[in-house]
Amino acid sequence: MIIIHSVEKLNGYLTEIRKEGKTVGFAPTMGALHQGHVSLITAAKKQCDIVVCSIFVNPTQFNDLSDLEKYPRTIDADCVILRSAGCDILFAPEVSEIYTAHELELKQQHMEDKSWTMGKTVDFGLLDKVMEGAHRPGHFNGVAQVVSKLFRIVQPVKAFFGQKDFQQLSVIRSMVKQLDLPIEIIACPIVRETDGLAMSSRNRRLSAEERDEVKLIYQTLSIVKENYQLATIADLKKLVEVAFKLSALIKLDYFEIVDSETLQPIAAFDTSRSAVACIAVQLQTVRLIDNVIMY
Ligand code: AMP
Repeated sequence: MIIIHSVEKLNGYLTEIRKEGKTVGFAPTMGALHQGHVSLITAAKKQCDIVVCSIFVNPTQFNDLSDLEKYPRTIDADCVILRSAGCDILFAPEVSEIYTAHELELKQQHMEDKSWTMGKTVDFGLLDKVMEGAHRPGHFNGVAQVVSKLFRIVQPVKAFFGQKDFQQLSVIRSMVKQLDLPIEIIACPIVRETDGLAMSSRNRRLSAEERDEVKLIYQTLSIVKENYQLATIADLKKLVEVAFKLSALIKLDYFEIVDSETLQPIAAFDTSRSAVACIAVQLQTVRLIDNVIMY
């Protein structure tokens, strides 16, 4: 695996690869890698000749500075994981390679401004007004900003994203469509621990007690999925609220059952359109999200 830090060097390298007629697959990440990330590399290897993984903790998608500062950075361990997954190129740029000082200043100035759109040229409509978009103002603008920059740099034929970040996938798909980018977005299933907890870089920040308690997230989602034919959406939402009220360590941020395409909450089950149950919870210092596709 080659490790590249500069955009210029990556450009030069990938230009040669494309001249050879090879296809490039891309998996953008923020590092602190686990088997969920590995599944993206494995899928990319099956479908493309050369796999590029980026590790970049993107400052513009954090609306909480302490979350950005505390985000785990484990580059040496990440390199070991990527090598054994068969990744060809790790792109690990400094912030200054990706953003101008002016772009960073703008983000800093507008940290608290919920309506700020970072001069975006795409409109996500209602996709980013719900769930994570509503709870983390500016988050998806920051995600779209960095992913569009990375797409321009790497120019992959396919890019691989996890269904774990379901709303992110919808936003990226919408961006690619609106900007008419020649990139196929491939969704990869959620990889879970043996007790069902969705793997996440943030899991390593949980205390032992919290780690035990967060099993409740997937347990609850599984009960919802198993029982949707027997209950109304209101019943299921009540059930989830009660389950988390009983937990001393986990606070429920939201639980929504939404249309898989529009991401808008549905009023009743209609199996002619796919629906997904999405959840976000807050622990003392860690926020976790998860989802299950209902049908
Ligand atoms: P992150 O490093 O958390 O920004 O995630 C980078 C990519 O890995 C995103 O496309 C995520 O959706 C994906 N990902 C993270 N966790 C998982 C998981 N448990 N299973 C599958 N994909 C994941």
